Amino acid sequence: MAKMEKILLASDGSQHSRKAAEHAVKILKGQKSYTLNVVHVVDYEASKHDAWLGIDPNQLQRERDKKLSPVSIILDENDIEYVVEILKGDPAEEIISKAQEANADLIVMGSRGLNAIQELVLGSVSHKVVQKADRPVLVVK
Ligand code: ATP
Ligand code: MG
Repeated sequence: MAKMEKILLASDGSQHSRKAAEHAVKILKGQKSYTLNVVHVVDYEASKHDAWLGIDPNQLQRERDKKLSPVSIILDENDIEYVVEILKGDPAEEIISKAQEANADLIVMGSRGLNAIQELVLGSVSHKVVQKADRPVLVVK
């Protein structure tokens, strides 16, 4: 099998997405050439609502950075280079289309996310990505 050297890591800032980041590190560490795209999708309806309420965009940016920082710390500690992208829209659809655009070999994500209290094994985002993606998906439990 070809090396998995183009990885898309989906992060919502949850504990599960940190575990996913650790697995991306395991795959990439020691590889000479790779690309890692870290994607965080902002719920479009929620952000429209914030804009309408007049919430300061700089404040929103700071909140997003804060969300992504646990993942950045893991990657930085391991000297892994990456590019962060904040996208808007439906998380699963954005993750899949970004993976296509980046021609990723693998999508890495958590099984659950910020809403992990539910009993199902997969969250709605991981479920939809596994169902609809046109490439391999590593769902980290
Ligand atoms: P749900 O959101 O369906 O109520 P959940 O939050 O527990 O349940 P998911 O949202 O499916 O579960 O999260 C599973 C994984 O999907 C996360 O660990 C993360 O890797 C990815 N993910 C979820 N939401 C986003 C997002 N907005 N942007 C990027 N990745 C996301
Ligand atoms: Mg979620």
